[in-house]
Amino acid sequence: MFSNMKNQRVQELHFCQQGPLNAVIAIHNLTLGPALGGCRFLDYESEEQAITDALRLARGMSYKAALAHVPQGGGKAVIIKPKGEFDRQKLFNQFGQFIQSLSGRYITAMDSGTQVQDMDDIRSRTPFVSSSSNIGDPSGATAQGMALGMLTAVQFKLGKEIKDLTVAIQGLGHVGMALAKQLHKEGAKLIVSDVDKKKTHWAKQAFNAQVVSVDDIYKQTCDVFSPCGLGAILNEQTIGQLKCTVIAGCANNQLATDNMGEILHQENILYVPDYVINSGGLIFASGRFRGLTSDQISHELFKLKDTLNKIFILSKNKKVSCDKIANEMAEHILYGDHMQTVSSPMQLAI
Ligand code: NAD
Repeated sequence: MFSNMKNQRVQELHFCQQGPLNAVIAIHNLTLGPALGGCRFLDYESEEQAITDALRLARGMSYKAALAHVPQGGGKAVIIKPKGEFDRQKLFNQFGQFIQSLSGRYITAMDSGTQVQDMDDIRSRTPFVSSSSNIGDPSGATAQGMALGMLTAVQFKLGKEIKDLTVAIQGLGHVGMALAKQLHKEGAKLIVSDVDKKKTHWAKQAFNAQVVSVDDIYKQTCDVFSPCGLGAILNEQTIGQLKCTVIAGCANNQLATDNMGEILHQENILYVPDYVINSGGLIFASGRFRGLTSDQISHELFKLKDTLNKIFILSKNKKVSCDKIANEMAEHILYGDHMQTVSSPMQLAI
């Protein structure tokens, strides 16, 4: 356990066992501020798997906050979904007490398996919660950041605007559907896939999208492939099928293994690091929690353009994949680590 924490540079790991509640909170780094990250409520095959998920995701949140200029550390909570009957409200009340016991070191938010009502139930026990009904769903801000990030990437790589694009979207969930709506409004041609046929039917009707099967989405000739459903979908098998120039999607942990970023770079595909382009939700959750206005949050969100351009330029000049550049930039901010790929401090100013 400690060596796993050390490898991920996670500072704190907290556990709570109370009745049906089996929860873990990982706090990765508090250098920039209190840790903020979602709470997952999922079936896990083992306790070990749940802890590994929390450790890995907490680290990702620190990196995301660092590059999004958000004054938060990285943290993540995982609740192992109980088997059989349980009182959901009581469980999230107890989880709220657990968060309260950390005195603001960790602020929770919605994530896979949790909903606004759960956040409200947590809020009845602690103020350290975002995405409750008084704060709102961050998905719209994530989609807004995604559209801006996609535009930045295609302007850089192709010299195109959104209206000139064909975009293949994998997954029409909270973010994917909002993104599809925005891209359609701006004139892009859409190709979509989702396991949920109701969602693809809706996208066909509302956005004139071409619907393809879950397996065929990788093979589509398009400017941008946008993974908005699952993690680990960029692997040796799928990369070989891609016919796109840019990959820009909101799904967390898209690269199945670290070397996939380098393979994409060699293939001349611009991979926009997932945790950078999907940081709109964090910017929104942190901003609302800190009492920022909508205008101030939009202003924060707009900085994404400069950050991405910096990553793209460094990647091109240094011939290193974008994900590696982004990681080095985040580690430089968090730990003061020397950037191996960048020699001049001027190149780092973002
Ligand atoms: P969601 O659960 O609302 O949507 C996921 C969608 O993917 C669903 O419509 C689901 O049916 C579809 N899907 C599942 N398997 C699929 C498959 N094999 N092929 C095609 N579609 C499939 O989730 P969301 O909130 O839209 O988030 C999507 C991703 O973005 C997740 O990885 C999430 O962690 C990440 N993310 C979300 C936010 C946010 O603000 N919601 C912020 C940052 C990152």
